[in-house]
Formats: sequence, structure tokens, C-alpha cells
Amino acid sequence: MSAPVEAFPDRLARLRSDLLRNGLDAALVTHRPNVRYLSGFTGSSGMLVVLGEETWLLTDFRYEEQASQEVGEAVEVVLARDGLPATLEKRLGGRLEVRKVGFEAEHVTVRDRRELGERCGSVVWEDLPPTVERLRAVKEPSELERIESAVRIAEQAFEDLLSVIREGMSERDLAAELDYRLALRGSDGAPFDTIALSGERTALPHGQPSTRRLCEGDLLLLDFGATRDGYCSDITRTVALGRARPWQRQVHAQVLGAQSAALEAIRPDRPAADVDRAAREHLEAAGLGDRFGHSVGHGIGLEVHEGPRLYRASKETLAAGNVVTVEPGVYLPGRGGVRIEEDVAVAADGARILTTSGSALREL
Ligand code: ZN
Ligand code: ZN
Repeated sequence: MSAPVEAFPDRLARLRSDLLRNGLDAALVTHRPNVRYLSGFTGSSGMLVVLGEETWLLTDFRYEEQASQEVGEAVEVVLARDGLPATLEKRLGGRLEVRKVGFEAEHVTVRDRRELGERCGSVVWEDLPPTVERLRAVKEPSELERIESAVRIAEQAFEDLLSVIREGMSERDLAAELDYRLALRGSDGAPFDTIALSGERTALPHGQPSTRRLCEGDLLLLDFGATRDGYCSDITRTVALGRARPWQRQVHAQVLGAQSAALEAIRPDRPAADVDRAAREHLEAAGLGDRFGHSVGHGIGLEVHEGPRLYRASKETLAAGNVVTVEPGVYLPGRGGVRIEEDVAVAADGARILTTSGSALREL
């Protein structure tokens, strides 16, 4: 069941005032994390209809009981016996005051969009402004607590893993061992597929674990996370198996330097692009700018990639309450790569780093 501390009525009220401002009579919310954020419903099948004064959660028989337990009194659970679109048609049919409805264009298939148009002919469908995403980017204290729990679980699992890493294990073994330990430490599920790479394969920014066996002198790159009550963590650590080679130390130190520069650029009201630029300028000065090809970070919360996004061309501005990753990396084809990823809360006075395990290069 959802924690009662969550501000569902407040979130719904803020969505309603945005609807009003945009001349919309209602919102149809279908993206699962948004449905959960607004109502507490965690099931896989449901749509939320937010009208001027009512909120309906349309769901099917499988979730009838769960839905009524999870949503608060402000939300009416509607059992969609004939399927969601037909039920929506029936419900909206009698509502002459509902003319313009916002929907999440990014999360609705072309087929569903067509069906909505055919079934609800009197409704004008418009893009829903990204109100819910904007609200979600600024975490409430109870959300931050759950992200911190997810961070702790992931860090504990990683520490547990370090003692079992041996030469001869494969990358797949490594990923499976880490997934197992994440579960043992209390993760509700993996927010994304664990990345475990070794040797020259660490130069693949998003490679998949292979059957390659670990050997002395390898760098190991592990990118992993936990979920707690719906909220994610996302951490990357790069360690050396045996004594690190000088070039491995140098690259690791440069990536750490880029990360410190990015962390220093984090402050409320500062452009998100500044954080990316800070990391990039550090690596450019070290002659490694062209080996850092991805953005420096992203928001985490109910989804592992959400706002604000920290990239070069980002137009977003940081705000107190954002929780973001800071993950510069350097990738040298044929040799190997280093990425270090921390989870960070944006506080009034700057970055508050949630990960505590420290990012100095560890030699196993
Ligand atoms: Zn990651
Ligand atoms: Zn990440």
C-alpha cells in the first residue's frame, strides 16, 4: 500500500490549475509512473482521468481490489468491464462540459490515439503540458527518503559483491552475483539491466555483460541500481582487478576530476547545461573531451531516467529538490573505460551526494 504521507491531493490540485491555465477541461493520464505519482496506483493496467472536481481511475478486474486499497478517497475506482477505451467513452459521453482533454502524446500509441478519436468524437484531444513530469522532478521529503533507501541498498549490494569477485568469473557471472545481492539487500526489482563489463569491453558505454572472463589487470565497470517503493537508484563504479596500471589510474583520476567539477556546478537556479559543461571542460583540458560522448546525468525517481536532464543543450534549470546522477566517463576503444556515477540531491546550498561509498579507485 502507498505511504499515506504522499501528497496526492496536492499533486492533483497542481495539475488541475495547470489544466485551467491551458484551457483544458480534463487530463487523461496513461503513463504508469504518472498514474502512480498522482493516485498511488501501482498496477500495470489503468488510466487516470482528472476532471475539474473528480478523478477516476479506470482499471480492469485484476486490479479492482488493489486499486481501491492503493488510491485515496479523492479517486473513484471504475471497473472497466468492456475494456478501458469503451469505459472511457461511456463515462465521458454524458459529460457535455468536457470538451478539451489533454493526453500524453509521448505515451499513447497511434492506434490508441485513433481509437480515442473514434470513440469520444465530441472531445478535442490536445497535448497535455508536462506538468506531472515537472512536479516529479522536484522531490518531496518522502520521495527523497525512498531514493536514499534505494541508494543504500545498491551500495550495500556492491560492497557484498566485492568479496566474491575472482579471476575467471565471467561478466555475466558478475552481473548475476550483483543482481542476487541487490535482491538480498531488499531491492524491489532492478530499475534497469545491470551492466558488468571487464577489460577492453569497459570502453563500451552501454555494453551488455558477455561471457568474457575476468583477468588480473582488468578494469571492471559496474552500472547498477535498486528500487525501493517505486523509487530508483543508479550508480556506476569502476574498479581494478589487481594493481591498477598507470593509465588506468590517470583516466580514473581525470573522470573523478570531471565529476568534482560537475558537482561544484550544481546549485538551484543554475542551468542544467552548466553541469554538463563543467565536466566536459575538465576532460577537454586533459585532452579527453572526444572520449566523453554521453550526457553527464539525468534525474532519477519513479523512473531511472527523468527530469531534469543534464546535457549540453538542456534548457532546464536546476531546482532544490531535484535528484540527479552525475556520471562522466572516458572510453578508450581497445583499451578500456572509466565511468563514475553518483546520485545527488540538489539542496539550497549545492549538491548533496547521496552515495557514500566513495569513488577512489579500488584495487581488488
Ligand atoms: Zn547508471
Ligand atoms: Zn545513469
